[in-house]
Order: sequence, then structure tokens, then C-alpha cells
Amino acid sequence: MGFNIDNYSFEEAVVRAKNMIDGHKVSQVVTINPEMFQCAEKDPNFANIIKEAEMVIPDGVGVKIALRLTGKKADRIPGIDFARKLLYEASKNNIPTAIIGAKEEVIIKAVENLQNEINGLNIVYYHNGYFSNNNEIYNELKAKSPKLILVALGSPKQEEFIYNAKKILNPALMIGIGGSLDVWSGYIKRAPKIFQVLGLEWLYRTITQPARFKRIFPALPLFLIKVINYKDKI
Ligand code: UDP
Repeated sequence: MGFNIDNYSFEEAVVRAKNMIDGHKVSQVVTINPEMFQCAEKDPNFANIIKEAEMVIPDGVGVKIALRLTGKKADRIPGIDFARKLLYEASKNNIPTAIIGAKEEVIIKAVENLQNEINGLNIVYYHNGYFSNNNEIYNELKAKSPKLILVALGSPKQEEFIYNAKKILNPALMIGIGGSLDVWSGYIKRAPKIFQVLGLEWLYRTITQPARFKRIFPALPLFLIKVINYKDKI
């Protein structure tokens, strides 16, 4: 379907990300799921952002199954766990970190919780995700020069924000983290472990947040049907 997905184990992905944090440019990590493929199909600009990302990791079980259907094996790397691991790694090396996204009370609580839980975490900048002028945020980020930047604006907004930042910001690793701040703040509960292990977090979220149902529920089967059709054509 024209997209490259990196086939790393969780630990390999962390090593690669650490190298990118130490790199000489802004690198973009996309944690991809079936909804994002659906969006990319309708929006060539978004498709291009995914194609140009420095790292694309399979966030959802849907992408893992799709890769299986085409004869490839890949580990599922949940974006929320990956981003949290990067925060731990950053704290060990005093890497300046920024977090952008979510409602004001959510980000304040999430930052407070993260700083309590992760010893030595150096958050040099944070901002809620409801701003109208991206340039203001880019300028503030430029002034603080964080090396790790987590962006929680939902998709495709966060991927677009990161993509446009590539030409502007000082070298850093930027990753879109969707609803992670809602979970880290404690405002939203993550799916119970059993759902996580079975790769059914998406199902839990659609049940507990009915507003998401219409958007998320059809995305997985539709995506898999497309993959099967595509596979039959090659
Ligand atoms: N969000 C934001 N600004 C926006 C839209 C969304 O900061 O303009 C935040 C929202 O508050 C939530 C996160 O983005 O914390 C993820 O939103 P959503 O659950 O819709 O995205 P998904 O997890 O499905 O990508």
C-alpha cells in the first residue's frame, strides 16, 4: 500500500529513538494504527507525512495482523508505553523534554504525575493542545531547545504539527502520543491488562468512550479487508 513500517522489537525501537534524540535533525516517530491508514487514503498530505517519517511503528494490533497477512512479522509497540519508556531514558541522561497537548487541567496533572513518578525528568516546556497559532508554540520550543518532544493533539493534527516543525526546530525527536496524557493524568483509565495483552485496547476504548465507537470500530475490519484485497492483487 506504499507505506514502510519499521520492524523493531520494543527494545530495538528504543535504541533507535535514543540515537535520533542524539541526532542532528528533527526526527518524527509515527505510531500507526488502522484509522491513520484510512485517513492517509483520503488525505495525500497525511500519507506523505507518514512516508517521510524517520520511524513508523505499529501501535495497534490491526497493523500487526495486516503485516501477518502479507507474510511479515512485527512486534506491536503501543505508543503510550514507548513514549513512557523514552521519558525514563531521557530522565537518566538529563535530556530536556517538552510535552504539548490535551486540555490545560489534563496536561498540568499529567506533568505533575510524570515528575513525581520519573526521577530526574527534566521537563523544560509544556503547553495545552488548544492553541490557534502553531508558530507561537514553535518559537517557544525553539527558545527552550528540548531534545525529546511529545505531542498529544490526536491524529492527524499531531503528525501535521510535528511535520511542519521539522523545518523550524532545533534537532529533536518528536513523537505523536494521541490520548496518552489523558491516561497519565488519571482522567481516563487505561484498558485492564488483559485487554492490553490480547491487543484489544481499541475495543475497550470504543466500549468505554461511545463517542469513539463510530470512528474506531469500523476502521479495523475495513483496513484488514483492504489489506487482503491488496495482497490478492500482488
Ligand atoms: N487534543 C488536543 N488538541 C486538539 C484536539 C485534541 O490537545 O485540538 C487532545 C485531546 O485533548 C486528547 C488527545 O488530543 O488529549 C487525543 O485526542 P483523541 O482521543 O481524539 O485522539 P486519538 O487518541 O484518537 O488519536
